[in-house]
Amino acid sequence: MKIFITILLILSSVFGFEYNLKPKKITGDVYCFFGKLENINKQNAGNIVNSCFVQTKEGFVVIDSGPTYDYASQAYVQMQKIAKLPVKYVIITHDHDDHWQGNSFYKSKGALLIGPRTYEQNVVVGTETRMQRILGKELYGKTKIVKLDTIVDGNVSMTVGNEIFEIKQLEPIAHTKGDLIVYLPRSKVLFVGDLVFNGRLTSLRDGSILGSLDALKKIDAYHAKVIIGGHGYQTDTNATHSLKAYLTEMKKEILDAQDHDIGMEEITKMIVMPAYQEMKLYDVLHKRTVLDAYKELEMMEDEE
Ligand SMILES: [Zn+2]
Repeated sequence: MKIFITILLILSSVFGFEYNLKPKKITGDVYCFFGKLENINKQNAGNIVNSCFVQTKEGFVVIDSGPTYDYASQAYVQMQKIAKLPVKYVIITHDHDDHWQGNSFYKSKGALLIGPRTYEQNVVVGTETRMQRILGKELYGKTKIVKLDTIVDGNVSMTVGNEIFEIKQLEPIAHTKGDLIVYLPRSKVLFVGDLVFNGRLTSLRDGSILGSLDALKKIDAYHAKVIIGGHGYQTDTNATHSLKAYLTEMKKEILDAQDHDIGMEEITKMIVMPAYQEMKLYDVLHKRTVLDAYKELEMMEDEE
């Protein structure tokens, strides 16, 4: 196995990583590449994220450009098999680096990049990204940080070809301090980035449990036919349910514990939530999420 991986890494350093991307048709003109339910590592080369595209008469609109330049260039090859059209826009849902590092590829193809204010604040040209650190020079390849062309503060609606795109930030803080959703009112397709995970657990490291729950409520209120999250394969009307249930139960258990003066030291031993133990990344993320939620809810209690 070790030899096999070493050979793969040597080959990928010569030819670039082969992502084997296959677009899945979701509905009408909407397609997605679904990433693995894992953490970033050299074997997946960052392919842990969902990246989607919408075909319009004028060209493609990409929602989240994926983990590397090579990923985006291979996604582009797949798009061109569907239609020989340019990529007009790339919309970035938030600033976590599994979602936007294909930007430099799409920029080189003439696409305009759209994203939240937090991208401008947190994505700094010349700094090493988490992806870069984990993947190393060869796998990171030609990936570069590029600036956005348009920043969305609040609300933007645009028409591309025959399709309307409504871009909006639902909450001041939810998964991050700048989560954009993209809604296609005609086909009732809703792209929600990391406001929705399924099949694996989320992280609140830059976010808020209360904001996340409020955002999930607002997402459900769209009554969209399709809900596409940043991680996970479920895209039906119930796509929000497992994360909503997880965070709702966590909030309740933490508030109960705080009523009983349970401190930070004991809380992660107490709030195990066994129903979620089989979920992907439970071992990596659950305890940290409990602690983050605990601190937030404690601060809220103090303010009351
Ligand atoms: Zn993500």
